Amino acid sequence: PIYLDGFATQPLAPEARTAMLSAWDRPGNAGSPNAAGEQAAALVATGRAAVASLIGASPGEITFTSGATEANNLALAGVLRAVHRACHSRSRVIVSAVEHKSVLETADTLRSEGIEVIRCPVDKTGRLNVAAFAELADERLLLASIMLVNNETGAIQPIAEAAALAHRVGGLFHTDAAQAIGKIPVNVVELDVDYLSISSHKCYGPMGIGALYRASSAPAPHPLLHGGRQERGLRPGTEPVALIAGFGAAAAVAAAELARADHREDVLLESFLECLSHRQLRHHRVTDGHPTVPGGIALSIPGVDGDALCVALAKTVAISTGSACTSGQLTTSHVLAAMGFSAKSAKQVVRVYFNRYLDEVHVVLAADEFVAAAERCRLATGELRQ
Ligand code: PLP
Repeated sequence: PIYLDGFATQPLAPEARTAMLSAWDRPGNAGSPNAAGEQAAALVATGRAAVASLIGASPGEITFTSGATEANNLALAGVLRAVHRACHSRSRVIVSAVEHKSVLETADTLRSEGIEVIRCPVDKTGRLNVAAFAELADERLLLASIMLVNNETGAIQPIAEAAALAHRVGGLFHTDAAQAIGKIPVNVVELDVDYLSISSHKCYGPMGIGALYRASSAPAPHPLLHGGRQERGLRPGTEPVALIAGFGAAAAVAAAELARADHREDVLLESFLECLSHRQLRHHRVTDGHPTVPGGIALSIPGVDGDALCVALAKTVAISTGSACTSGQLTTSHVLAAMGFSAKSAKQVVRVYFNRYLDEVHVVLAADEFVAAAERCRLATGELRQ
């Protein structure tokens, strides 16, 4: 099948695969005082430097985790436990209504620890309501967590603006950048965030590895796990050397690809949308003109059930509805609901992403299959109604 499910996960970069195979071929624990251990530690250091460089951080500000889910948990639960104990006058956490569940559910678990959790609304294009955020961000603010790019719509959020509002009142700021890494340039200094979560597999690296950036000036979170001294005690456990090497290689390629600035992924997406129009398939971008990541979009196809379309395309084109973790459940996407979609209209939405390994031939083939499958779904729905 033609792979357009890049919001769920990206294909593995060949460079990441090569780096992992070579690391797996060499035994060595990065904590061991022998030559093999030193080699492993060197691979970890190289990977850390590449990941840091991709986001404009220094290597000491990177803590490897199992992925963005864990990084989000560490940023919210870990930071709040560390800071709230020391400063009881601040107990407010602001998250946006369209965050990934790993942020929303972690924040919700903190209510029992005396934290006030507020969900900031977004507008109908999925953009953070900055005026509402500014009103909520007062001297009670402890931490705000707003994602850089949404995983269901690709919408890019005004993070530098929100971070400045949080800092103005002395609050801390975290952003979940899992969907931004490798898709748009991300610079922690320009964004001026205190914490930032990333995931390797959304950036053409292996699954099972990610990282939390913590600015050297920001408070250290309480570790979620206890044990060894790896990752300066913040994330104990033997470092997965090969995964880190793969993540580092993917990050290095991503940096080079972002420097291309030829917007190839976007050219492919636009060409796909043009093909849909030529073939007379009605479709709307759910973000309605709001900026999204190059190559990625959520589309509403009137009269076509998104889940049925994914199934109808299963053998030829890989796409998905909503986030992969919630598809299969019969609940309306919380992201689309927050944007004002009814349960019925949210069911007509699918997301596509054109990755760097695709070309115009894939675009035309994918569009042909997409239009034919959408027509089959529409006919089937019509027949069911009769
Ligand atoms: N945050 C966002 C925005 C995501 O899209 C995802 C992946 O679905 C995650 C966090 C979780 O990332 P990981 O799979 O690395 O735990």
